Amino acid sequence: MRDSVHELGLLNGSVYKDGGLKKLNIYIDNGIISKLTDQVYDCEKVVDCAGKMLLPGFIDPHVHLNLNLGEFTSSDDFSNGTKAAAYGGFTTIIDFLNPVNRAEEFERALEEKMAEGRGSNIDYSFHTTIGNYKEHPEPLAEKSLYAGIPSIKLFTTYSESDRKCNDGIIVELVRLSKEKNLLVMCHTENDGVILNHFKDGDRADGIENYEESRPEIAEICEMAKLAEIAELEGGRLYFVHVTCGSSVKLLKDKYSSSLNKHIFIESCPQYFYLTKDKYMEKEGALYLLAPPLRSNYENGLLKEHIDTINVIGTDHCPFMRNEKLKYDDSSTIPKGLGGLEYSFSLMYTLYGNCIIDKFTENPAKIHGLFPKKGVLSEGSDGDVVIFDPYKSFIVDSGHSKCDYSPYDGIKLTGQVISTILRGKFIIEDGKFIGGQGEFQRRV
Ligand SMILES: [Zn+2]
Repeated sequence: MRDSVHELGLLNGSVYKDGGLKKLNIYIDNGIISKLTDQVYDCEKVVDCAGKMLLPGFIDPHVHLNLNLGEFTSSDDFSNGTKAAAYGGFTTIIDFLNPVNRAEEFERALEEKMAEGRGSNIDYSFHTTIGNYKEHPEPLAEKSLYAGIPSIKLFTTYSESDRKCNDGIIVELVRLSKEKNLLVMCHTENDGVILNHFKDGDRADGIENYEESRPEIAEICEMAKLAEIAELEGGRLYFVHVTCGSSVKLLKDKYSSSLNKHIFIESCPQYFYLTKDKYMEKEGALYLLAPPLRSNYENGLLKEHIDTINVIGTDHCPFMRNEKLKYDDSSTIPKGLGGLEYSFSLMYTLYGNCIIDKFTENPAKIHGLFPKKGVLSEGSDGDVVIFDPYKSFIVDSGHSKCDYSPYDGIKLTGQVISTILRGKFIIEDGKFIGGQGEFQRRV
């Protein structure tokens, strides 16, 4: 091969770089972006991208593939879930290890998920997860960091299933995150508020009461407490799947000097597109997830505060229609929604180009993948999305194994045409080619 002949050339597209669009050609060799230039070179394969945007491969740092909840297992495994993800432009996902309560349980949790990851079409990593942790967390943090997993997720609720992390451990973790290159990720809902919300011991388990059973105040007050810890201790705290505009506003108003430094915010498309009114519908169970969909007011406030949100993840965790509709009582319905395939188009339809960083550079930087991922630069992985910003389409159940999408029937503008992982097409002009994902050690 002559020096000047590149393996793949993506020509004439509008390349997203440094927050703007530039007319550049991208050349990829051995899976890496070798040149980004307005020059034209010979290539073994050339794709004319005129009229299209070329974006860095998307990163979803919050997915649950093959999640076993006892009676039900989420319907997408690493094979079909990452196929749907690739249709949505994702080239990297981060899933979660099963919760551990002691450091000695880490290796097994890692092995289990690493075995599943081998079926992935796109690159992948994991977050370590803790339940009702019983020891000082430093040995676990050391093991996790050594494995290339610089993030530990905890729950402030679910005491009934022994997954609630106590406040002492949270403070220790936040302190560790200051000393080490660690990110502490929180599922933030106040456990006491959830357990005691219904008076007289009269738990209402109806779907129409579901949001009320895990109310907005549970998120807002728990977030206020944890933000205070992050501000006092320093370190790096990341709030997953934030649902309420009031929570984001609180962080912006009171903790602005800690944002992007000690505090990071993730939200998900479902909290922008759907509200708790869905729980009043005949098939409201299809929309059950935790934390729940919120009021119109919180939804509106969340939309207003998009600029304060660092990352859009999906919390992708779909279940089949018949599984969601099997029981009437919200406590036994499997909770979770699918979203990978449409996440970017959903948010692009609402916000346009200003949403791109929340799927690329921001998650890459916060989760230790930058500059290998999240940016179109010479030396970065050849992960590229060919995107048509003008093409409209109607959402259907798509390529997920799940037989419905919570966004069914919504019209979106902006569609992924092709997805390239390390120089190889996984999706080419809407056709699934497939790929072989690799575990990404994060730093
Ligand atoms: Zn989740």
